Amino acid sequence: MLLLAGGRVVTPDGVLSPGWIRLAGPVIDAAGSGDPGEQPSIDLRGQWVLPGFVDLHVHGGGGASFTEGSSDEARKAAAFHRSQGSTSLLASLVTAPLAELEARAAMLAGLAGEGLIDGLHLEGPFLSPARRGAQDPRYMIAPDVGVFARLHAAARGHLRVITLAPELPGAFAVIEAATRAGVTVAVGHTDATADVTLAAIDAGATHATHLFNGMRPPHHREPGAVGALLDRDEVTCEVIADGVHLDDIAVRLAARAAGPGRLVLVSDAMAAAGMPDGRYQLGSMRVTVAGGVARLLDDSGVAGAIAGSTATLARVVRHAIAAGLAVPDVAAAASTTPARVLGLAGRTGALRPGLAADLVVCDDDFRPRAVMRHGQWRPGAADEIG
Ligand SMILES: [Zn+2]
Repeated sequence: MLLLAGGRVVTPDGVLSPGWIRLAGPVIDAAGSGDPGEQPSIDLRGQWVLPGFVDLHVHGGGGASFTEGSSDEARKAAAFHRSQGSTSLLASLVTAPLAELEARAAMLAGLAGEGLIDGLHLEGPFLSPARRGAQDPRYMIAPDVGVFARLHAAARGHLRVITLAPELPGAFAVIEAATRAGVTVAVGHTDATADVTLAAIDAGATHATHLFNGMRPPHHREPGAVGALLDRDEVTCEVIADGVHLDDIAVRLAARAAGPGRLVLVSDAMAAAGMPDGRYQLGSMRVTVAGGVARLLDDSGVAGAIAGSTATLARVVRHAIAAGLAVPDVAAAASTTPARVLGLAGRTGALRPGLAADLVVCDDDFRPRAVMRHGQWRPGAADEIG
């Protein structure tokens, strides 16, 4: 039995300070506060223990991508995010030609089968060119049940989330088909009004892809998708709280409106996460990163719209705490609530007996120092603590 003690342990019932966690192999056996009554295996004084992060929206990281390149590239991207504390993650694909999406979904399904990722997120191709962000409008198509069925089949049961624009013709049939197939429908890259968004929620949509980004700005008489998604209790809302995609006021407003049970922190990371400034690729789109901010590059080499982020979920967590969100609420939004979205709440997402020993040890400034998944430290990580 491994006993971690002396740190501040963030549980669903609050922060245990000092707290301890006892592990039985890959699972949390017990947790409590004060003196555990036995000698700890690892002394965590001065450090925080958070549940392992669950990132629902990741395109790549560490110089590698899920959106292009070989399966080795995808493995590298997953390993990078794991090393940074995301003990569960989806691989997010962007809009691309259908045959390419099918091939990539099939490749990533293999990695999901190995347990390297926790499934796939299709961010496209049923998106609105009017709110395309960093996605390629040439390959955006109207929602089509047959196309959805092909992509769903290619993912062999590992498709977890599909982002779509509900105002497009055919969207409601796809929302219903995806919901029937057990795939979470997310509203995003959309120019929908509040009314259309509410109808999409009634049809089965339950999630918001990076709330505010890729949506019409809310107006007090037309609150748009943002207003409708925040307003409905059954909807979980992603925010990219990296200090670049959203003003911190928007993050705090969304956090208050949604509450920790509905807020989901995501990285929306691309290959450039964890890498120096330079030129990168996001699907078919060229991206330039300067000062850590990724922007689309047009044919003449001019930088335009903000592309994916260069953050890890760990960095988003640190930023959200600095922006004023309470630590237990941030842990809920980075771990517990996204685990629930994935249907994994019975296995991971909180520091609670019976769940997987997935955790992140952070310093006082919430920088990850060690990551454990299923009771195993990431190679080398355990040397850094205690
Ligand atoms: Zn994305």
